[in-house]
Amino acid sequence: MKITAIRGFRDILPDESGLWQVLTSQARASFSTYGFSEIILPLLEKTELFARAIGETTDIVEKEMYTFTDRDDSSLTLRPEGTASVIRAYIEHSLHQKEPVSKLFYIGPMFRRERPQKGRYRQFHQIGAEILGRDDALIDAELLLMLNDFFTALRLDVSIDVNSLGCATCRPRYRERLRTFGESKFAALCENCHGRLQRNPLRILDCKEEGCRHATIDAPILADFLCDPCRQHFGQVQTLLHNERVKITVNPRLVRGLDYYCRTSFEVLALGLGSQNAVCGGGRYDGLVEQMGGPAIPGIGFAIGVERLAMLLQAQERQNAEAPDMFIAPMGEVAENQAFAVARRLRQDGYRIELESGRRSLKAQMRRADKLAVPYVLILGENEITAGKGTVRDMQTKTDRSLAVDLSASAQDMMKAIRASDV
Ligand code: ATP
Ligand code: MG
Repeated sequence: MKITAIRGFRDILPDESGLWQVLTSQARASFSTYGFSEIILPLLEKTELFARAIGETTDIVEKEMYTFTDRDDSSLTLRPEGTASVIRAYIEHSLHQKEPVSKLFYIGPMFRRERPQKGRYRQFHQIGAEILGRDDALIDAELLLMLNDFFTALRLDVSIDVNSLGCATCRPRYRERLRTFGESKFAALCENCHGRLQRNPLRILDCKEEGCRHATIDAPILADFLCDPCRQHFGQVQTLLHNERVKITVNPRLVRGLDYYCRTSFEVLALGLGSQNAVCGGGRYDGLVEQMGGPAIPGIGFAIGVERLAMLLQAQERQNAEAPDMFIAPMGEVAENQAFAVARRLRQDGYRIELESGRRSLKAQMRRADKLAVPYVLILGENEITAGKGTVRDMQTKTDRSLAVDLSASAQDMMKAIRASDV
């Protein structure tokens, strides 16, 4: 009989492993500019480590762990995530005595016995990072900035959702308020959420059941309950990122299960990955190191799912292989004639150019450009073009840039100028 791999465990064959190389190298490169070093951790740990760090009542610990009894009767578990091991090692080797701030990253396989489906496996890989020893808004913003740099370097279109979970001062009041709210909607909530109402009411906000989503649409939001220090902290994180032009979306429904999670919490969502669209999750966990028997040291971190990231990159590569390099949108007849000449020159040099009729409205042209997934649209307006100017719209960042179109320049120089903003 033929022996096959275990369900939910996959081989990464040469046609995919090259891509893995690209994205792990990019992670190493992006993270090192922020001062992170790699930590290489064991795959097996004592079961109690995860029970304590992740929490006895979580899905992971209750039903997803690969746990077995070793020959000496100790209970061991294949790691389902990386943070617990990082913190164990941090405490075990007293890293806090060696440096006031530790910035660590890891790359490797994780194991969870969930139902396998596209983007969800029983052995999967994570690229994770943790910062231990700082709790200011600056460091939270830095971590998010690093994530943003990483995804930008891979040219991936993602959305970063952020929320503040408050702290031990302000969250309990919200939790009670939400419990009361949940009880008033009891009949509409699923059985799982009935349990959550008792154990951890915040989780009713991230239930995936349609009925629960609907019932909690007008639930009270944590933002209205934050204490002043938490509000300030979150405000500063947003301002710092805003100033760096990093687009984040505040999502008041973004919550995490456990009590030691606090303040900044985030998720990176891929646009166009179907239902398994979360590529990264993370947040601040100020009480965790202490709970694990270490000193009271704050922490924040994230974990990126490598399989989902690879899927995204593959989908994008396919799209890029087909999409034109640029879409030219002329407005009116004069512009149309000029655009005709520009398109010809660019195509002669091998660029794939899509040219529209100048009689169509800009809105209609942009809609088509969007559909074709072109990276740039060169908009040539009647007035501007007589002054030798056009506008470049970067379809990834959705920003406009005015550009003097030098019609005598070579096609290569022209494209270089157009792409200049994203080097
Ligand atoms: P999900 O809601 O998709 O189950 P999660 O909240 O369990 O995600 P985390 O524990 O925060 O995920 O892990 C971080 C990332 O690891 C996820 O965003 C995802 O990209 C990836 N990941 C988690 N579980 C799996 C899995 N079984 N297979 C593949 N990737 C996974
Ligand atoms: Mg999960």
